[in-house]
Amino acid sequence: MSQHHFKTEVSKLLELITHSLYSHKEIFLRELVSNASDALDKLRYLTVSDEAYKGIAFEPAIRVVLDRNAKTITIEDNGIGMDAKELEENLGTIARSGTRRFLENLPETERKASNLIGQFGVGFYSAFMVADKIEVTSQKALTDAAFVWTSDGKGEYAIDAAEHSSQGTEVRLHLNAEGEEYLSRWSTQSVLKKYSNHVAYPITLVSEETEYDDKGEKKGAARKEEVVNSASALWRRPKSELKNEDYIEFYKSFSSGFGGLEEEPLHWIHTHAEGTIEYTTLFFIPSKAPVDLYRADYKSGVKLYVKRVFITDDEKELLPVYLRFVRGVIDSEDLPLNVSREILQQNRVMTNIRQASVKKILGELADLATANPDKYAAFVAEFNRPLKEGLYSDYANREALLGLVRWKSTSEEAGAGGWTSFAEYKSRMKEGQKAIYYIAGGDEERLRKSPLLEMYRKQGIEVLVCGEEIDELVLSGLGPYEGLELKSVNRAGSESEFGAESPAEKEAASGSSDAVDKAKKALGEAVKDVRLSRRLAESPACVVVDSDDPSLQLRELMKQLGGGELPDVKPILELNGAHPIVKRLAAAGEAEAEDLAKVLLGQALLMEGAPLADPADFAARLNRLLG
Ligand code: ADP
Repeated sequence: MSQHHFKTEVSKLLELITHSLYSHKEIFLRELVSNASDALDKLRYLTVSDEAYKGIAFEPAIRVVLDRNAKTITIEDNGIGMDAKELEENLGTIARSGTRRFLENLPETERKASNLIGQFGVGFYSAFMVADKIEVTSQKALTDAAFVWTSDGKGEYAIDAAEHSSQGTEVRLHLNAEGEEYLSRWSTQSVLKKYSNHVAYPITLVSEETEYDDKGEKKGAARKEEVVNSASALWRRPKSELKNEDYIEFYKSFSSGFGGLEEEPLHWIHTHAEGTIEYTTLFFIPSKAPVDLYRADYKSGVKLYVKRVFITDDEKELLPVYLRFVRGVIDSEDLPLNVSREILQQNRVMTNIRQASVKKILGELADLATANPDKYAAFVAEFNRPLKEGLYSDYANREALLGLVRWKSTSEEAGAGGWTSFAEYKSRMKEGQKAIYYIAGGDEERLRKSPLLEMYRKQGIEVLVCGEEIDELVLSGLGPYEGLELKSVNRAGSESEFGAESPAEKEAASGSSDAVDKAKKALGEAVKDVRLSRRLAESPACVVVDSDDPSLQLRELMKQLGGGELPDVKPILELNGAHPIVKRLAAAGEAEAEDLAKVLLGQALLMEGAPLADPADFAARLNRLLG
């Protein structure tokens, strides 16, 4: 027996690694299973590439064996194995990764094709989080001798001759108090499923389980051996090999962790990227919005894998917030296994994958909109609103998002579900129309009845009806669409579209400047201005805001969002000079004029969904007029 010292000043380092590098102790299983999988990859590669190894008949397999009496858990593989020198080099030197050296010796093209997970050289030591002693028994392929490496992780290790029947490695952990929970089959199985479900080789979990007879009495113990992983990593398979059913099946099993999305996915997007950065993504668009879509504590729907090994499903930065409804997998070749959240957020590889993924998803959605309008309408019904968030949060993808977001409209020609796009609006525009018009602030039904739409309707000018809370915020900050200004119809100035006043209008409005003067006098500070309106056809009055003022509804919204109070803005009252009530106002005496003006302003505000400052006063004046 020969004692050796670790090659670096490491007892402290080991302490550090085992206690602070990993946030969850359960990941030791992921690390050891990944090492086993790497060892199988290496041997499999040699059996096809190297004459000397071609004679090895081998059925790659990983076994995880629980022994409750001895309090051990053993991870076994029949992979490449290690000789005494390699045990010393690989396990006796911290951060010296044998995997990395193996990779360095491969020709460039094969390096890319290989799947090796490790490359970092610290994974193995995570096992000291749960074990106070580790024995690694290994026999290198094509050799007869086996060796055992033993250490308590405190600064020394030993290497001795050992017995082993064929090539491969057994890592036996003598569990400490922290590790004892992994003697439970259920615990270990769930950790294996969580992290290693998509490792390419079958993982068999072996344990002694108590058996019960049908009366519930103990009947003895039986050995239970079951493969616990699906070993498929479906996203890694070429698209040409996969059928729709495969994707649907995978989506269902995959997404069960996200609160059981029973429905079939609406659409999926599968990408293998090669080049400077290599990764695979498989994204699903659900057919129904997840229940937590509008909650601040929504759960991320994307799982990150590094070389088929699960890393996290709790990283909201993998895709932008507005794509939080997307479910799927990102599997990178170029990230380290123990990538931390901080590394992820600053990592160039991750940033690239993220940007490319957003482009890809938005591009595919655009294709879907053209190729399958009905399906796209179903998408819009569920996910239009988060996409609108993208319009104000993701400037880089503004163009793509402008093409994807849909609006309700006054046009009869709007597409499926009454939705229309900016592009469709533009194609329907009247000759010479100068802007895209919309009405926002309040729910759709109310907006459709607004007097502000009367003249647009009469003149056949389409108006987008934007009844969702965030619409106004989004639209007011959007800037022009293909050179066309977006104009809210509740703003002074938006009526310039209606062309020159017709002689009939002039005739109808004649004398109504008296009404304007009287209303101004009666209303005083309650309004910013009183004007004759050109946008009203049937209603006597409406209120608008000045061209640069925030609307009443936007102010409400900002308050709700905690954006602070916007300065108080006063509405502009517009009067329909052709309306009998306005004519009556023009002719009224002072007292009646005040009643009329205040009732007209009150009803116009009510129609905009704004509260009355003094309802009792409003009712009293109305009653007087009716009486
Ligand atoms: P990493 O896996 O990140 O390279 P580890 O500390 O987990 O680092 O392992 C160090 C090295 O030990 C590996 O690179 C590999 O060469 C070797 N090794 C670990 N486990 C096994 C195994 N089961 N079979 C063969 N070699 C192994």
